[in-house]
Amino acid sequence: MTDAIPTDQIKDQAYDLECTNIHKNFGAVRAVDDVSFKIPKGSFFSILGPSGCGKTTLMRMIAGFEDPSSGDIQIKGKSVLNTPPNKRNVKMVFQHLALFPMMNVQENIAYGLRCIGTEKSEIERKVKDVLERIALPDVGSREIHQLSGGQKQRIAIARCMVMDPDVLLLDEPLGALDLKLREAMKIELKLLQHQFNTTFIYITHDQSEALVMSDHVAIMNEGRFEQIGRPEDLYHKPNTSFVAGFVGDSNRWAGKVSATDGDSFKVETDAGLSMISKRAVAGPFSAGQSVSIFVRPEFIKARKSALMTDTEKTANKNTLQGRVDSVLFNGANSRVLVRGPVGELIEADVVVTGGPDDLRAGDDVTLVWSAKQTMCFAA
Ligand code: ATP
Repeated sequence: MTDAIPTDQIKDQAYDLECTNIHKNFGAVRAVDDVSFKIPKGSFFSILGPSGCGKTTLMRMIAGFEDPSSGDIQIKGKSVLNTPPNKRNVKMVFQHLALFPMMNVQENIAYGLRCIGTEKSEIERKVKDVLERIALPDVGSREIHQLSGGQKQRIAIARCMVMDPDVLLLDEPLGALDLKLREAMKIELKLLQHQFNTTFIYITHDQSEALVMSDHVAIMNEGRFEQIGRPEDLYHKPNTSFVAGFVGDSNRWAGKVSATDGDSFKVETDAGLSMISKRAVAGPFSAGQSVSIFVRPEFIKARKSALMTDTEKTANKNTLQGRVDSVLFNGANSRVLVRGPVGELIEADVVVTGGPDDLRAGDDVTLVWSAKQTMCFAA
């Protein structure tokens, strides 16, 4: 997949990083399989995929710790294939941060500048400047063990940013933090990226991190990029069933097309349900074809059967009867698990008001959803 970020989503035409037809084999293992992409200047770009899909290998090739088996990597328009890691203007933040425990904050940040022979007064100016930019102007003389987890993260980023890299690579840097701090750091990382206006490439298997922070996300599966897009496009317009399943929650059914009528498909699921889809992804499909159906829980309306009107049922095309198995309370927008007519659990999002119409376990419920929100992929 090449140049998959639509050009109208790119502020100017300059790219900080361009990978072309990258392959990486480890013996018989194909870790990265023909990956091509361009990252526009100053972006927050994430690579999201399950464990073992090749994210770290790709990152290590960009940093120069691994050579691709074939393909080219360009940084700011120049191939870096023959450039060793320390000569590439790329910095990397790891999950374990790798701060030097025997040095204080200032010395940690100054380390790289000292290694390249920067003058003392210039080092002092740059360290002071970067500490102000990360909003920690007063911690320079602290020891590393005197910092909180979030402060350590910021110092690890400052230590890279003081070198003014073309690209900052972040390999699951929030992995070791507790949930609350992770949530706070997501927002902070995004703000820091804006502040420095440097391209950040972030790898993670956690979709909520990638979707919240990124301008664009690449979904990686078995060494390949399945789709590159804005978070909202990946969520609402997935190109493949893998992307639909990996990004966000979905109800899924396997089945076969039983009839077609213009842009509308009737599908009989393997478990014996009938559904109409008006969203054939990479279709059209023909009768007899095996397909997968995906419906997001927020698009399924669940109401006590006695309260659901006929108009709602006919307007929505897909209707099922079921019984509430449980309600996963999560404030106003909660998730209800409904046991459907053939025994499967269907998830729907409901608004909880605290009133008598709220759904409770054991209620008979009618589920309705639109054919247009019923995504259909070739199996
Ligand atoms: P995780 O999220 O678990 O870190 P990942 O997406 O980063 O996974 P990689 O570490 O890039 O995945 O691994 C991709 C594939 O390449 C895996 O099958 C892995 O076992 C294999 N692999 C990675 N490094 C090597 C190596 N040095 N030698 C042999 N196989 C390797």
